[in-house]
Amino acid sequence: MNDISRKQSARLFEKAQKYFPGGVNSPVRAFKSVYGTPLFIERGDGCFLWDADGNKFIDFCCSWGPLILGHNHPTVRGQVEDVLGKGMSFGAPTALENELAELILKNNKKIEKLRFVSSGTEAVMSAIRLARGYTGRDKIVKFDGCYHGHSDSMLVKAGSGLVTFGETSSAGVPKSFADETIVIPLHDKVALEEAFKQFPDEIAAVIIEGVPANNGLLIQDKEYIQYLREITQSYGSLLIFDEVITGFRLGFEGAAGYYGVSPDIITYGKIIGGGMPVGAYGASAAIMKNISPDGAVYQAGTLSGNPVAMAAGIGQLSELLRPGFYDELNAKTQAFVSAIEQYIQDKGYRVKVSFIGSLFWFAFTDKDIKKAEEIDPASMDFFKEFHRELLNRGIYLGPSGYEVGFISAAHTPEVLENAKRAIFESLDIVKP
Ligand SMILES: *Cc1c(COP(=O)(O)O)cnc(C)c1O
Repeated sequence: MNDISRKQSARLFEKAQKYFPGGVNSPVRAFKSVYGTPLFIERGDGCFLWDADGNKFIDFCCSWGPLILGHNHPTVRGQVEDVLGKGMSFGAPTALENELAELILKNNKKIEKLRFVSSGTEAVMSAIRLARGYTGRDKIVKFDGCYHGHSDSMLVKAGSGLVTFGETSSAGVPKSFADETIVIPLHDKVALEEAFKQFPDEIAAVIIEGVPANNGLLIQDKEYIQYLREITQSYGSLLIFDEVITGFRLGFEGAAGYYGVSPDIITYGKIIGGGMPVGAYGASAAIMKNISPDGAVYQAGTLSGNPVAMAAGIGQLSELLRPGFYDELNAKTQAFVSAIEQYIQDKGYRVKVSFIGSLFWFAFTDKDIKKAEEIDPASMDFFKEFHRELLNRGIYLGPSGYEVGFISAAHTPEVLENAKRAIFESLDIVKP
């Protein structure tokens, strides 16, 4: 099969390279680990995307997660259109902030108060400051293979050894910041115990993704998640769930609801803004009262609670509250993944499709993967071929084998049927 035409995308990318480092405004968009120029997208509707060359794709990236209803959903668009004519930003409170907060807090019992910000990064950065301010401690434990946005304390990777001070994973992050972040492997009780033994009174919080979904889909055992809750409590540390992907995705109460645990602080992003830049962090009223202007932990934002963004969030979250919304979406995902797994098994391919809720991930391996270090970088060669074959057949996955796929309510059974056929054909070419 011939490769799709990327003439217009190539022309736009050439221009973009004059303006932006690497031609993009966020690195993974540059298609560095797959074939060809990045596709420049012209529009999206439902579960479809069209690029600048007029190619049409079934979209399994969904803007990296926010679009759980698909593109251009009439309710979301309608809410935005209603407020657009009244001005874009006031830097003063609006009723829309109350409306979105009420919608969330009435239906999510894991938090009592929240603060809106403008991105997931900002939500996590603020949550960490809050944990430090509340506990009076400085150190944070994070897990190898979890992504929490690009704030300085989170751009830290594991050093050598079981419990180590992190090493910065980006130039420009001071070593002294990395010294406050301890990085340990997922799914490893011993490492966590060791970290608490070494620093019993210094750890402000342990932060984990609700379900680690930024470096493959590393689904943890429920028992391990409960253990995190117990050990943090016994050492007086906070447990932060970074639910920027899983919030409103695994259910309206996210991974906290899914696992039946109560983290101390939860961060949200992606879905919460209906495709507009919104993030949030929430906790009990007792913890949130430490945030300015009530408390001593400073945090602010010129565009926080932006009315247009709030309207998009209201539109999207109100759709998610329809009875049966998640059951239907998750059942659809399960059927899709089961059929693919069956095909893989029949053909004897070395691929695992992990999934939870409406998230899925192709791992080119025959092992169950729960930790970052278990992913073989060489397996990404298969993904690279797979990605090209899928694009040629009208299927758009995020341009990296470490990224998960997203299914939206707009993916109909017929569309998923077509997608499956394209996936089978592509697997038959890649022959993993
Ligand atoms: C996407 C993501 C972030 C960062 O959110 P941005 O809006 O990109 O800043 C943080 N944490 C998790 C778990 C994410 O998936």
